[in-house]
Amino acid sequence: MGDTWIVDITHYLLPGGILVGGPAGRIARYFGSIIAAASTRPAGVWADTDLHCRRRPGRRPCPGHIRALRLDAQDVVKWHCSSCDDNGLIQSWKGSMWDLSQPIPDEQAPPPDRRALERTISDLTRHLADRQFGSFDELNACMRDLTTSGGVPRDRPLTPVERAQDIVYDAWDVEDPRERVRLALKALEVSPDCADAYVLLAEEAARSLGQALSLYERGVAAGERALGKRAFEDEGYVGHFWGIVETRPYMRARRGLAMTLWQLGRKEEAVEHYREMLRLNPNDNQGIRYVLLAALLELDAKPDLLKELFELYPDDAMADWLYGRALLAFRDGGGHPGLPEAARRGEAG
Ligand SMILES: [Zn+2]
Repeated sequence: MGDTWIVDITHYLLPGGILVGGPAGRIARYFGSIIAAASTRPAGVWADTDLHCRRRPGRRPCPGHIRALRLDAQDVVKWHCSSCDDNGLIQSWKGSMWDLSQPIPDEQAPPPDRRALERTISDLTRHLADRQFGSFDELNACMRDLTTSGGVPRDRPLTPVERAQDIVYDAWDVEDPRERVRLALKALEVSPDCADAYVLLAEEAARSLGQALSLYERGVAAGERALGKRAFEDEGYVGHFWGIVETRPYMRARRGLAMTLWQLGRKEEAVEHYREMLRLNPNDNQGIRYVLLAALLELDAKPDLLKELFELYPDDAMADWLYGRALLAFRDGGGHPGLPEAARRGEAG
């Protein structure tokens, strides 16, 4: 006879969405993968996942796999094993770190037109790239003309990658998900080096974490081809990724790749990607440092690694950051009674 598990996933999370450690953390991750699988499938219908049942009746692994039913209105995921009776109900899955039902948002609270703004920056970059300016006055005059003429003219895209990127910008403006996917595929016909097309497909068309992973991998490779080897060695680029608009598709693909690796349990690889992303863009417009911090804490990383990360952003006052620092101080001090308030609250939760 199987067990019925009724859990509220938020009970396994510390402030800032950090996962608890130990056996509770392991079971939470199992429920998390059920959420991830269910959230990428249509709501309201039982769906097969490729997750294996974790029970071992008679010390043999149960041959069943998990079937899941996602109920959006109740914020509940129901699941059962296809072979034994193991089953359960997971509450409060929406918005948790495993919720893949929405495109993964960027950490920096994107306004709805954030990507549209990127298009304008991109247009402006192209527009100015073709012109020679003898002085700041000339540049200013050109900018003034642009503002009085009602914006940046949509110059003819110069390369296939730029044309493909324009198609993806169009796709982001479209309401219909199927049309977005169609445009992403069209973008890849125009240029296979369009990283954002793969990002869109991974976010919207992948039916499993494995598929998402493969799409993000291709996206990262596409971004590398589009930027060329030089970008990863040149001091004019390294440290300025994201600030240089044409690096953004690559960074979006790499973020997706790292997060998917994490969800698949390939955590050390995910951490390497996060660290490398911070090297390319220490300005960290994507909020990678918070994800990395949570990852290092969950992996019980060496204090040196955590300290190194904290030293990169000494002035960060975000709650996640302060909480992490408090936790590190708590661990270092072996649970000294003078531990900061944040850590005490975390321990109690
Ligand atoms: Zn089973």
